[in-house]
Amino acid sequence: MPGFQIRARAPSGAAHLPRIDRDPDVLASVREDAAHFPGGHAAGMVAPATEAEVAAVLRTASAVLPIGAQSSLTGGATPMGEVVLRTSHLNRIGGAGDDWVRVEAGVTLTELDAVLERSGRYYPPAPTFTGASVGGIVSTNAAGAATFKYGTTRDWITALTVVLPPGDVIDVTRGAVLAHPDGYFDLELTGGVVRVPVPRYRMPALPKLSAGYFAAPGMDLIDLFVGAEGTLGVVTEATLRVLPSRPAICLAFVPFREPGNALRFVRRLRDEAQATWRRGDPNGIDARRARWPSRRSMTSAAHGRHRPSTRRWFASAVCWMRSASSTWSRSRCRAIARAPRNYSP
Ligand SMILES: Cc1cc2nc3c(=O)[nH]c(=O)nc-3n(C[C@H](O)[C@H](O)[C@H](O)COP(=O)(O)OP(=O)(O)OC[C@H]3O[C@@H](n4cnc5c(N)ncnc54)[C@H](O)[C@@H]3O)c2cc1C
Repeated sequence: MPGFQIRARAPSGAAHLPRIDRDPDVLASVREDAAHFPGGHAAGMVAPATEAEVAAVLRTASAVLPIGAQSSLTGGATPMGEVVLRTSHLNRIGGAGDDWVRVEAGVTLTELDAVLERSGRYYPPAPTFTGASVGGIVSTNAAGAATFKYGTTRDWITALTVVLPPGDVIDVTRGAVLAHPDGYFDLELTGGVVRVPVPRYRMPALPKLSAGYFAAPGMDLIDLFVGAEGTLGVVTEATLRVLPSRPAICLAFVPFREPGNALRFVRRLRDEAQATWRRGDPNGIDARRARWPSRRSMTSAAHGRHRPSTRRWFASAVCWMRSASSTWSRSRCRAIARAPRNYSP
């Protein structure tokens, strides 16, 4: 039976403050993320290896910025005078089942995928940059090419362990803690109960949304931490849902002479995908992301690599082939890529 309260626990492991590095060269190496936001500077850099060490850092330093791979494109992983807490030593992959895996925050998606691949499993909503850490993807609610079919990171997180600023730890499992009907959660910390209000704004219904804290009536506490950009605590571990088998994926980028044909092709691909879902056809094309590119990207294609006389109109499609047969999938990929020749509007 879900409640609106959660009781924190003490961090596991020996309480020991890891060395905070103040070497200028080390600090220079973490002063900006992939957004190259100007003016970044760190007061120190620390790389804890256990939950207890994370808690010790949070208890000691007055301002802490957790970072993973610093691939943020928003400046969220750019320090502005904080001690930078790097999660690279929280890099263990724990238990796993057919459709889940428990990982520490510093594990990168490349490392995760290598482990999953060995058993034929797959984590779908990976961002394009696969050097990103699990803590980073959770804290930005990252999304990728597979998001239109599989959703964002949020949909694949079933449990989180978070070290809160006073050093208390909470283990949040999806479905276990839901907001009180009056819009709050109660966190029972060692220092007393902290009432956390659910933000009152209404969120637009979009497949990918990472601006601001997640908010909804009766929301799950876990969703407050997904996309919170490290402002509420340090994520040390996550349980991710995974697919028990890897789908074959085909990306087709198809040129057309006439824009109308490209539009009709995309529509037809979508119709075919819907027929696949309706029929439950195990060998059907499952194209969730078939799209006509924006005017802006069309303009840059037309004025960049392609001279006006050879201008082509592109439609792109990412297709998930349900068939396990890669030969079959390859032949369907080729069929999609040949579409302009075969397609009669
Ligand atoms: C080439 C490239 C392609 C990209 N493609 C995509 C894409 O397709 N989709 C997409 O969504 N993003 C994309 N990104 C952005 C970026 O990769 C993602 O936002 C990624 O999730 C960030 O992971 P990270 O480990 O680098 O986190 P960082 O950049 O280090 O941190 C990001 C934020 O999360 C917080 N944080 C990090 N770790 C923790 C933790 N353990 N606990 C609490 N807070 C934490 C940080 O404080 C910061 O606010 C791309 C970036 C690049 C450079």
